Amino acid sequence: MKESCDIENQKYVIPRDSSGGIVKSDGGSLTTAEKLFKNCQIVTADGKLASDLGLAVSDGRIVSVGRNEMLPEANQVVNLEGNVLLPGVIDCHVHTRTPGHEYKEDWRTATAAAAAGGVTTIIAMPNTEPILDRPSRVNSSFETAADDAHVDYQTHVVVTAENLDQLSDLAKSGIAGFKVFLGITFGDIEAPNDGALLDAMDRISSLDKRLGFHEENDEIRAYLENQFEKKGKTDAIYHNRSRPPIAEVEAVSRVCLFANETGCPVHMFHLSSGSAAEALTEWQSKGVDATAETAPHYLWLTEETVKEQGTVARVQPPLRTETERDLLWEAGIEAGTVGCIATDHAPHTDEEKGIDNPNKSVWDTPGGFVGVETQVPAMLSFVSEGRLTLPEWVRLHSTQPAKTWGMYPEKGSLLAGTHADFTVVDPTATWALDRTDLHSKSTATPWDGQTFTGRVETTVVRGEVVYDGEDLTATPGYGERAPTAQIR
Ligand SMILES: [Zn+2]
Repeated sequence: MKESCDIENQKYVIPRDSSGGIVKSDGGSLTTAEKLFKNCQIVTADGKLASDLGLAVSDGRIVSVGRNEMLPEANQVVNLEGNVLLPGVIDCHVHTRTPGHEYKEDWRTATAAAAAGGVTTIIAMPNTEPILDRPSRVNSSFETAADDAHVDYQTHVVVTAENLDQLSDLAKSGIAGFKVFLGITFGDIEAPNDGALLDAMDRISSLDKRLGFHEENDEIRAYLENQFEKKGKTDAIYHNRSRPPIAEVEAVSRVCLFANETGCPVHMFHLSSGSAAEALTEWQSKGVDATAETAPHYLWLTEETVKEQGTVARVQPPLRTETERDLLWEAGIEAGTVGCIATDHAPHTDEEKGIDNPNKSVWDTPGGFVGVETQVPAMLSFVSEGRLTLPEWVRLHSTQPAKTWGMYPEKGSLLAGTHADFTVVDPTATWALDRTDLHSKSTATPWDGQTFTGRVETTVVRGEVVYDGEDLTATPGYGERAPTAQIR
């Protein structure tokens, strides 16, 4: 990976005419812009650019990137004070809990947390009530988001045995992608049987959308869970034991086998184990179009967190052993098999998560915890340790998620003419999380009190500052549905 490159030779600079004006796409020349973002270092997935840079923005789009002194005139100037500007972070896995579970979270609070967490676009998950399985429900979800969202948004829709005849219309309803829940999780959505799944994948293969999976073998889970429950084992760690890595490896393998057969592009949500990453690598090397995401908690925390913190750390798939976690880094992140970071932001109340309740049975505790607001500092902490470079960080958080779900280059690129979505960070600031500062409705998280290196300073969506380092600065409803196009 290139560590630095010459801004003058980059595609990021719009050509200038002989008078020094910037040449517009319609052939005219541009000497002014609406807004300038100045004094930053810019990092893209291609490499680090120089540090005395700025971007000119008009109509919510980047019109030029260049040295401060080369930028056009503008009425408004935002001084970024030497911080690092990255293409806006996309979190492709956010449970907004709306409709149906608004007491846990809603579009307004989920996207407030996103803005404060440096996330400029979220993709919502469809295990709502009712589930998002038909175009009318998708439309009404988009309408709620349009009223409430602080940042740009998208949604995944669910595939069940009952909605195969709706898949084509769903693809046309402006969504990001499809999801199948192979493993039971919040919402108890039943997976299609293998026959219906093959049928669904065959249909989706011609829709230019990707089908993502909650990839856990549910028969293994159900059998083991039943055994532990019968023996009265209610400690949180038995939830981990009921979902061993083999359940994930089997599901990855089955999904990829079916993808190989049908040509359906697939995605692994929340890949949690190194063993599953190794299985996925094999299928990718055979040419199967299979992408994957993992979450900061699988790269940082382990089973020890479950032993220490109990039910609050219940998540599915579960946190793994240190050996599996280290293998996930090696076979997933470093090998490039896992291309995206997403949080599986899953809000539940303190009571539901058993905070301050040592008698809470893990079997009565829902899985998951909040994450959209902590992913940027968590993963920047790995940059500070030298485990990731900033360009690699950008690829995982922005560029690859945008490509995976058809938003590139409008999102995730910083190319001239595309959306001015920026995540501005101080990668050296060290601070500790107090969960009461989070913007979600529910704030139960195993990260409470965690020290991070790296902080969000400014979040910009289509040229508007939506978070200034202290306060949310956009009106709810500013967010728009992110456009999606071809995924390959
Ligand atoms: Zn999820």
